[in-house]
Amino acid sequence: MTEAAAPPIDRTTVCISGGGPAGMMLGLLLARAGIHVTVLEKHKDFFRDFRGDTIHTSTLELMRELGLLDEFLELPHHKVTSIGGSFGGESIAFGDFRTLPTQCKFVAFMPQWDFLDFLKRQAGRYPEFNLLMEAEAITLLRDLGRVSGVRWRGPDDAEHEIEAHLVVACDGRDSTLRHQSGLPVIDIGAPIDVLWFRLERVAEDPQDLLGRIETGQALVMIDRGDYWQCAYLIRKDGFDALKERGLPALRADLARVAPFAAGRLATAIDSWDRLKLLSVQINRLHRWHAPGLLCIGDAAHAMSPVGGVGINLAIQDAVAAANILYSCLREAQEEGSAVNDSLLADVQRRRDWPTKFIQAFQVRVQDFLERRVFNAIGPVKPPLLLRLINRIPVLRSLGPRLVALGPRREHIETPDVHGRLS
Ligand SMILES: Cc1cc2nc3c(=O)[nH]c(=O)nc-3n(C[C@H](O)[C@H](O)[C@H](O)COP(=O)(O)OP(=O)(O)OC[C@H]3O[C@@H](n4cnc5c(N)ncnc54)[C@H](O)[C@@H]3O)c2cc1C
Repeated sequence: MTEAAAPPIDRTTVCISGGGPAGMMLGLLLARAGIHVTVLEKHKDFFRDFRGDTIHTSTLELMRELGLLDEFLELPHHKVTSIGGSFGGESIAFGDFRTLPTQCKFVAFMPQWDFLDFLKRQAGRYPEFNLLMEAEAITLLRDLGRVSGVRWRGPDDAEHEIEAHLVVACDGRDSTLRHQSGLPVIDIGAPIDVLWFRLERVAEDPQDLLGRIETGQALVMIDRGDYWQCAYLIRKDGFDALKERGLPALRADLARVAPFAAGRLATAIDSWDRLKLLSVQINRLHRWHAPGLLCIGDAAHAMSPVGGVGINLAIQDAVAAANILYSCLREAQEEGSAVNDSLLADVQRRRDWPTKFIQAFQVRVQDFLERRVFNAIGPVKPPLLLRLINRIPVLRSLGPRLVALGPRREHIETPDVHGRLS
């Protein structure tokens, strides 16, 4: 495995831009299957907040299928076994992960940098894996109408080129390579932005994941053990208006939506610097591929934080892509043949409906927020669907399945050509 100061590499089988959940998982699976892969990651480490830190049950099950679950669960994490919410003071249980038909009956919360570091360590055991940090993909290389590689910029600002049989764009929702490809984007839009902040958590507080909705306000509180990671949903571009009203008004709003934490707000939000504004978007590519190029994860479909399922979708895309492509990539590697582009279309066909399904769900939740929360005049009431889920046991098992496992679960079908390397 090579990092930072590595010399430029000029040829690989698969070049992946972006070392997020999609890129690192795909890199691990392909290297494990004996495919030479180079991952370009523009940052010098994985240490960034605000990317979500949910490790869904489906991902835990993938770790089990890879024989890595015990090692993985040795990393510090927090188990969430249920999700619930409060709508205008009325409590609703959305679901209990303990009813899942899986070995792990919880969703793990783990800082994403620990998760990505873990994938990096596992992938680094395979000689076929190459990770270049501080390597920013800047341009697609083309040859006779096919994408044939990537030009990237290293830490010294010098530019390098790497040729590949296949380029996979995993560089997130602002993907440079997707932009470069010219593939048309369907913009679905998101009327919300998120303010991200931390709040001390004390023993008497409620447990697990909480959505708290009051007239005009929506707050998601993620239990991270000794603190709450809070996501305060605001109208798109509404931050300036909030600032004009001032910090005391914001703290008063938050105290109304989370009264149990009111006494801690003055310390937690003593300046605007405590709040990080995160812009939300929902969009997807009409076609996820071009000759020699595939986009997956947020690069193919930017997800909103609603439901906390974007990481799951990105990982599932990576597993599906590895399953569908590895034989053809092996042939390309051994015989120098071109990658069969119809297989790239198969990856999209496999992952298209789960993406559309989840995005449709996110749009419905956004609609609810806009019409029934931000523009509400009276008290907020739980939506009918949630009331039904709360009351009817068979429906109550659907919510956790959807969040924890996703609409179409992928399983590892790629081989470990080296056996487990230690
Ligand atoms: C505010 C917010 C909160 C969210 N919270 C959650 C949550 O709690 N749970 C959840 O499941 N989902 C959440 N999501 C969605 C989730 O973050 C994404 O769906 C998920 O991260 C997509 O993974 P990815 O690997 O496709 O892309 P990313 O995680 O965005 O990773 C892309 C990687 O590519 C790198 N990169 C970018 N450009 C380049 C380049 N030119 N060259 C090389 N590298 C590059 C980036 O540094 C990054 O490491 C949230 C989204 C938002 C906006």
